[in-house]
Amino acid sequence: MNALNYIDGIFVDSVDGSTLPNVNPATGEVIGTIARSKKADVEVAVHAAMQARKDWAALSMLERADWLDRMADGLEQRKEDIAQRESTDTGKPLALARRVDAQRSIDNFRFFANVARQQEPEVFEMSDATNVVHRNPIGVVGLITPWNLPLYLLSWKVAPALLMGNTIVAKPSEMTPLTASLMCEVASDIGLPVGVINVLHGYGPEVGQAILEHPSIGAISFTGGTATGRHVAATAAPMFKKLSLELGGKNATIVLDDADLDAAVEGAVRAGFTNGGQVCLCGSRILVHRSIADEFTRQLVESVDAMICGPPDDPSTQIGALISVEHLQKVESYIELGVEEGGTILTGGTRKMTGPITPSGEGAYLRPTIIDGLEHTARTSTEEIFGPVVTIHRFDSEEEAIEMANSTEYGLAGSIWSTDLDRAHSIAKQIETGIIWVNTWLHRDLRTPFGGVKNSGVGREGGRWSLGFFSEPLNVCIKRDQE
Ligand code: NAD
Repeated sequence: MNALNYIDGIFVDSVDGSTLPNVNPATGEVIGTIARSKKADVEVAVHAAMQARKDWAALSMLERADWLDRMADGLEQRKEDIAQRESTDTGKPLALARRVDAQRSIDNFRFFANVARQQEPEVFEMSDATNVVHRNPIGVVGLITPWNLPLYLLSWKVAPALLMGNTIVAKPSEMTPLTASLMCEVASDIGLPVGVINVLHGYGPEVGQAILEHPSIGAISFTGGTATGRHVAATAAPMFKKLSLELGGKNATIVLDDADLDAAVEGAVRAGFTNGGQVCLCGSRILVHRSIADEFTRQLVESVDAMICGPPDDPSTQIGALISVEHLQKVESYIELGVEEGGTILTGGTRKMTGPITPSGEGAYLRPTIIDGLEHTARTSTEEIFGPVVTIHRFDSEEEAIEMANSTEYGLAGSIWSTDLDRAHSIAKQIETGIIWVNTWLHRDLRTPFGGVKNSGVGREGGRWSLGFFSEPLNVCIKRDQE
């Protein structure tokens, strides 16, 4: 299946006709080509988005909400197709792609459609005047997304951007183009006005860079790695573009001495290894109170040892392939670094350590890995690995747990496991991060703010925060009594 660009309602090759191969990481097979877009493609897409923006912005928010519902209906009809494409592109278990990626992509459109219907006018009365706040569209917005949750993350931006009256030039990851194309097929099928959604495929430094630099694109919503985010900010900020940056994480799972051990172990496994550890919110550093550390670790190792790593379409698979062999090698280099830094591998390890994972040895597979005995400040314990690797660290007091949790340059998420909810809440407030779950993980209410502090990003998305980002407030102050 080839991924073409979608511009002005038409699927087209890149302007210069160049393509990239699309590889299935579970098999190593080339499954199609991807349009390799560049500056010239961005010009055409921005032109289409500029042409479409006036009519789109002229619709009421409720009319646009109806379009979002139609997008959700269209995606719902293609739910299995979304899951199949996502699993083929990423190597993730098909069951996970059905449950998480496909469902959430539909939910994002529905959610923002419903948010629109709950909006109240923003009016501020003074004794002699009335202020009315209008939420105007920005115009054309650029959306750039990563490969780990492809349509889930893209639709999280597309839905609120459209709702607020913007038109879009989007660039999904070059590793995972297929569901962005599916979204465009749905847009075409339902008759969404042409030029409202435009999707360009290709490499970040080529087409992504041209999106960042285009003077007619007024805002950039970017999700991806911290190093890329720094470059995005350096390029777009001097042009005074509005910026939302959702970046990397190295999140702590904090297990207090009064935790329900079974729940904490189950939660730590889910937080550590969902999607092969390739979720920005993954709990890749486990901090556990010394008094329960041995028993917790024994149970954790037992659970992780039992995880089934294998082909994405096998219903028993819990960990599929990683996104690519290159990424797998990067993850393995961190496991080797962990050993060099003095860590002990309790289960898993590099392919050299474990032997091949599939009978053929093909595919970007890696056993889930636990490393113990590292300093909490070691590179392996503080740098984002973005794979199925967790480190374990012991603490003696709440203060020490908080200090350890805060000792990375990241601040995206985390979880605390305790039977004392007040105690957990009080600790949560002292963690430098954007979201903390207590006795759960990745339990999302889409109305709440989502985003990170420190090097995990700038700004928040979700609910009214997304509506705020994708609009420009205009305050009209009307003086009442003319003297
Ligand atoms: P990445 O930064 O390599 O790429 C992200 C996107 O940016 C891709 O579409 C890529 O093509 C594009 N890009 C690369 N260079 C660019 C440039 N010069 N100009 C414009 N665009 C450019 O990230 P990735 O490897 O695709 O994804 C993994 C990272 O994403 C991890 O660090 C993870 O933590 C992060 N992530 C964060 C969140 C969040 O919400 N905070 C969610 C998911 C993933």
